[in-house]
Amino acid sequence: MTTRDRKHLLLLAIALMALYIALGGCASEYEWVRAGSPSKAYEWKQVTRDEMFLICATTPAKSPTLGACAYVTPEMCRVHSDRTEWQAKREMSGDGLTLWEHEIKHCEGWWHKPYSRWEAK
Ligand SMILES: [Zn+2]
Repeated sequence: MTTRDRKHLLLLAIALMALYIALGGCASEYEWVRAGSPSKAYEWKQVTRDEMFLICATTPAKSPTLGACAYVTPEMCRVHSDRTEWQAKREMSGDGLTLWEHEIKHCEGWWHKPYSRWEAK
């Protein structure tokens, strides 16, 4: 095998890996289902990462990519995140939505199954 062949093989491997990552990132691993009526209001509360895991009832080991969780009642939807609302509007949650859009969809009465990698449950 020449050095040139090796370079081509390496490039091919990189291209395949990139494709694999791109597909994984876009793939929707769950379906949204209507779970209830929309909350009348929502509140985005920024907390520390430790607090977020506590409130979302999980651990970094169980949910390493946790970004937020939403507690939805008819009166109020409370989102707890270690990101600001501004950051969440610019961060993709892996399902084609931003983290903010994803959480707001919960506030609007939608849920998904199985649960997102970005959430505790
Ligand atoms: Zn979710």
